[in-house]
Amino acid sequence: MQKQCRQCSAPFEIVQEDLDFYERLDVPAPTWCPPCREMRRMAWYTERYLYPGQCALCKKNVISQFEPKNPRARNQYCLSCWWSDKWDPLSYGRDYDPSRSFFAQLHELELAVPYACTTNDTVLENCDYTHQTGHSKNCYLVFHTSLCEDCYYGYGVKKSKNCMDVHYCHESELCYECVDTVGCYGLSWCQDCQNCSESRFIRDCIGCSECFLCVGLRNKKHCFLNEQLTPGEYRKRVQEVSSGSWSMTQALLKKYREFQLSHHWKCLQTEMTEDSRGNYLYRARDAKECYDCSDIEHSRLCSQLQLGVKFCRDIFQFGIGIELCYDSLSIGYSSYDLAFCISCMESAARLRYCMYCFGGTTDCFGCVQLQRAKFCILNKQYTEAAYRTLKERIIAKMKVDGEYGEFFPMQLCASGYNESTAQWWYPHTKAEATKKSWPWEDNLPKTEGKVRWRKSRTASPTSPMISWTRFSAVRNASGTTRSSPRNWPSTAAAHSPSPTAASIAAAWTASICATPASSGRDRA
Ligand SMILES: [Zn+2]
Ligand SMILES: [Zn+2]
Repeated sequence: MQKQCRQCSAPFEIVQEDLDFYERLDVPAPTWCPPCREMRRMAWYTERYLYPGQCALCKKNVISQFEPKNPRARNQYCLSCWWSDKWDPLSYGRDYDPSRSFFAQLHELELAVPYACTTNDTVLENCDYTHQTGHSKNCYLVFHTSLCEDCYYGYGVKKSKNCMDVHYCHESELCYECVDTVGCYGLSWCQDCQNCSESRFIRDCIGCSECFLCVGLRNKKHCFLNEQLTPGEYRKRVQEVSSGSWSMTQALLKKYREFQLSHHWKCLQTEMTEDSRGNYLYRARDAKECYDCSDIEHSRLCSQLQLGVKFCRDIFQFGIGIELCYDSLSIGYSSYDLAFCISCMESAARLRYCMYCFGGTTDCFGCVQLQRAKFCILNKQYTEAAYRTLKERIIAKMKVDGEYGEFFPMQLCASGYNESTAQWWYPHTKAEATKKSWPWEDNLPKTEGKVRWRKSRTASPTSPMISWTRFSAVRNASGTTRSSPRNWPSTAAAHSPSPTAASIAAAWTASICATPASSGRDRA
């Protein structure tokens, strides 16, 4: 079936397999094309903008996901208040008014019920400066992170320990400045590596240890610029270039980038996939148009899902045991049969149009911030029979209004479009966004970075020194994704290395440039 997107007018196709899936969840076929649907979901999601705020209940100062002028900032609780029994989200419950739009009523409820200052779960210890994070301890400025300990400045970090400045680092330990590593230990400045250890400046390597400045190696040890050395020779070469100085590191990074140019790359970054289509896909079976996903089966149009996903479509972020879910955002931890939901997790089941529902909330419709609830509509408790009857009535009315089967409207988003994840992937100008009545935030917290701070030390001594905007994901023109840093910080210009260090680096660069700069793959 050929359809035309109601948002961008682009044609898109719905095949019989899609219709079977929608029928299984009892939802109508979508009216927006897949990219527009993804943009709409992402517009409801913020990840890296944090603001100072205050708990409306205990008045404690908090780190908040809301800009202070956002009405939700006046009605937010610190995590300990939010997760406590000091308040009852069901007390905000209200009757459904069949004469009005359901989305409008849900929006009023969403504004009334207190938000948690950040979207983090209860199993967190000493992780105040994090957002979209759970089951972690001693972490700082990590986002979209789970099951981690002692990790700092990271994005998409899962089951990792003692990692710093990492992007998509899974089941790894002691890694620094790494992108897309799985099962690694003791790596610095590495990318696309699996099961590697004690190495620096390596890319696209699997099962390697003690390698330095290597690309595309498999199960190697003691290699330097892809050349096999004896353990003694290797240590001597590494020692020569391990002064730890800034200029030496810059020279090594330069060489690392140049060395990669001679490498023949795999067309896609995938491992152990079967009948699947996508990129950065690991242990996948029958997963189509899926990106940055692992342990995923029979799913379509998903991104950034890990550790157990089955029969899901149109899902952005999280995972860890989800099944039969559709058009939702940040759902996970053993959740089942969710559609049009935001941040519902922990054994959530059979939810439609719910936001931030936790602790085994099941069979709810249009509810906000509930825990351990069942048979609720607009946060009001019903008996099972009354719930089912009213739910069917609401769905029938929403179908008449063209609301049922659509994700929450972008005009009602909880944050500015430019604050949301949608802006990274589907950038729009303020003029474009406001023309469509999408909210916009003029007061984004800009991190100037330590370089600017050094330059303008007197002007702004309290400027934040951390730039987490460096962890970015890019979507290239062909629509595939790469989890790689978009902009490496241009800190080199601000640091003027001492002449001695600079000359050593230059001499060293010249010396390594004289060695054959081809990768092992080419020689093979
Ligand atoms: Zn579209
Ligand atoms: Zn509080």
